[in-house]
Amino acid sequence: MDISSDILLEVRDLDVSFQSRQGEVRAVNGISYFVRRGEVLGLVGESGGGKSVGVHAVMSLLGTSARINAGSALFEGRDILRLTRRELASFRGREVSMIFQNPSSYLDPVFTIGRQMVETVRAHDKGISKESARALSEDMLRSVGIRDPERRMRQYPFEFSGGMSQRVMIAIALLCKPKLLIADEPTTALDVTTQAQIIQLLKELQEQSGMAMLYITHNFGIVAELCDRVSVICGGYIVEQGLTDDIFYHAAHPYTQALLKLIPRIDSPKNETPPSIEGPPVESVTLPKGCIFHPRCPCCMDVCRQNAPPQTALEQDHSASCWLL
Ligand code: SF4
Repeated sequence: MDISSDILLEVRDLDVSFQSRQGEVRAVNGISYFVRRGEVLGLVGESGGGKSVGVHAVMSLLGTSARINAGSALFEGRDILRLTRRELASFRGREVSMIFQNPSSYLDPVFTIGRQMVETVRAHDKGISKESARALSEDMLRSVGIRDPERRMRQYPFEFSGGMSQRVMIAIALLCKPKLLIADEPTTALDVTTQAQIIQLLKELQEQSGMAMLYITHNFGIVAELCDRVSVICGGYIVEQGLTDDIFYHAAHPYTQALLKLIPRIDSPKNETPPSIEGPPVESVTLPKGCIFHPRCPCCMDVCRQNAPPQTALEQDHSASCWLL
């Protein structure tokens, strides 16, 4: 089998910056990654590290101050960074859907859930009747674990809890059976129990449907639950990528090793401050010379301050950029 036909999305050398009062913010610096059909890729890093900006750029969801300086995003071989508005409108939802951190900000407060779902279906399938779109929406609500969907369809977003709103968002995202679901920290705003339920739900839906998923998170605990492969992003650079097991058991980059130490332990005292990596995250306006992680790296050497490390292949599908390798 041609291995490239197995790749659904391939992002190559993507470079994104913003104009700010302080100067040019270098948010994403030439990142490359791919998602195979039917697999779950985790894009992992601290907040502000460029993981969301990179994905929002791919979906053309960035504001006017953003600029894509270079790169491509091939979806089944077609560069989606070059789609027209019209092409984008039919591409989003049908081929790729997204769910976000705050579901309530994406649901329209003045329309019932049912109306929003039916309109989503009919926007992508002009020939479908209202009744069929309604039946499809009810089935989808049922499949994301919402009981009594006929009644719930008549309700407004404010009548749903955070966890239930996220279930509705997942249902809307999956209505048109996308080939890829992009999940941008969808559980960050939820309590721990609801978080676990949503992760479990996503896992089941992904396995049943065989769709691919790109999961953005800062939490390696979620990666362990969900992902087949991982790309670790720091200061807008991908510093390590590999199979989830390789990353967990043979993490090669000091930044990945530091992130792995942040996984919350089940026996941690309840009020303990969550651990963090020492030193401030990278300032995207004044990126350091040399290795992006050197100001915070406990293993920093002279060469790290002068030159960016090359990418080193370690095992199949596993590579990292560090002078120690
Ligand atoms: Fe640390 Fe140097 Fe490796 Fe960067 S290249 S992660 S500074 S050891």
